[in-house]
Order: sequence, then C-alpha cells, then structure tokens
Amino acid sequence: MKIYVNRLKCGSSGHMPFRLVENIGRIDYNREKLHFNSPVIIIGSVERHEDCYMVTGHIKTEIVLECSRCLSSIRHPIHAEFKQKYSESAQEDETLAANRDELDLERPVIESILLEIPIKPLCKEECKGLCPICGSDRNLNDCSCTHEDIDPRMMELKKLLEKK
Ligand SMILES: [Zn+2]
Ligand SMILES: [Zn+2]
Repeated sequence: MKIYVNRLKCGSSGHMPFRLVENIGRIDYNREKLHFNSPVIIIGSVERHEDCYMVTGHIKTEIVLECSRCLSSIRHPIHAEFKQKYSESAQEDETLAANRDELDLERPVIESILLEIPIKPLCKEECKGLCPICGSDRNLNDCSCTHEDIDPRMMELKKLLEKK
C-alpha cells in the first residue's frame, strides 16, 4: 500500500493527488483480523513541506464481520478519512518514516478502518441471536426450548409481593 513521491521532489507544485486500489483479501494487523469483501480504494493527496509529507485521504471498502448475536456474516461498508505525516529525517511521535521516495499507507489506512468497526456488530437491529439452550439460530426457526425471560427488576418485585 505504497505511494511514490519522487514526482513531488522535481515538480514545483508540492502537491500530488493519488488514487490507490488494493486487493487485500485478509489481513492480520496487530492481532486484529480483517476480511475484505471488496478492494480498498484510497483517494487522496500528498503535500510536501520541506522534508515532510502530509497525506490525507478517503478510504472506501467493504469488510465482512460476524454478527455478535447469531454469528452470521455481515457485509459492512466502510468510509473513512485519514491524515498522516511522514518525515525523511527526525522521527517524532505520530510521524512515520518516508523511505526514500516511498510512503507506506498501510498503518494509517488499516487503523482508520479498524476505528470504523462497531464493537458489537449486528446483522439486523432486531436479531434474535442463537438459542442459549440448543444453539439454533432463532431468526431462522423457533426452537421449542423454554426460556425464562423474566426481567430482573420484575423478579425483585415478585419476591416482595410474595413476602407479604
Ligand atoms: Zn444476527
Ligand atoms: Zn433452543
């Protein structure tokens, strides 16, 4: 996921738009697993300031997630923005190294995508999830297991009423 900035060094404008299309498929990134359903399209621009580069871009892709209730696959579209500074010399925090004329976008791009992933993805808002007793998908079939779905607040009330 690299862009080449040698053109910026010779040119006088100091500005370079770019478009990258990456077919990633699956990636393991710091123990986070990402499964892409479509290419990652990055549209952005690079600004050169002396020995630094500022890259800004928009990311568009689609990833595959697992519903946190019923474990089915969900196609989750991603639209994310990122901004990343690169430097050829001194390394500060948050600044990545510009390797000769090459800027590697993997870290800012993947980290921006990870930020867009919901903590508890759901296939649909009203997903019924799996039956805790028999494990069948309650969206697909109503199993005959009996569930004691009593609101804990109601239980307290019931206890109080029984005491009297
Ligand atoms: Zn679900
Ligand atoms: Zn069941």
